Amino acid sequence: MPYIPPKTVRIVYICVLVGAALAALLGAVLSSTAVMIAGMGVMLLDVIFHFLWYRCPHCGRHLGRSWGDYCPRCGKKLDA
Ligand SMILES: [Zn+2]
Repeated sequence: MPYIPPKTVRIVYICVLVGAALAALLGAVLSSTAVMIAGMGVMLLDVIFHFLWYRCPHCGRHLGRSWGDYCPRCGKKLDA
């Protein structure tokens, strides 16, 4: 599994989540089940991506909802 810096994972996660949520909403507004399901599917994949890659490079544990510069588990700086 290739290493992706936590800050990059954060940005990708939020952008994709917002885009997919808007697509799902658009599908609901347009009564298009296919667009709505596609948006929800991308949201689910985005959550899985976040779970797999949003990890501390030092201890390897998931960073949870932390948005700080330091790992909440081991306390080391994330971009060291
Ligand atoms: Zn850590």
